[in-house]
Amino acid sequence: MAKNSQTQYSKIEVCRNCQGDGRKRDNITGAWHTCEVCGGSGMVRKHVEVQITIEPHKRR
Ligand SMILES: [Zn+2]
Repeated sequence: MAKNSQTQYSKIEVCRNCQGDGRKRDNITGAWHTCEVCGGSGMVRKHVEVQITIEPHKRR
């Protein structure tokens, strides 16, 4: 008989897309743009949902 549980949490991290700068340089034109992932703040909130299944395991 398996048992399911679900947990969720969120954490705030430095934006990996812009390395916390809040802006990114265009590779082609070299112009600076506001980072589209964090919206220019340099930080992102990561929301994580985890599904956990617990089931019997036979000992060897
Ligand atoms: Zn960013």
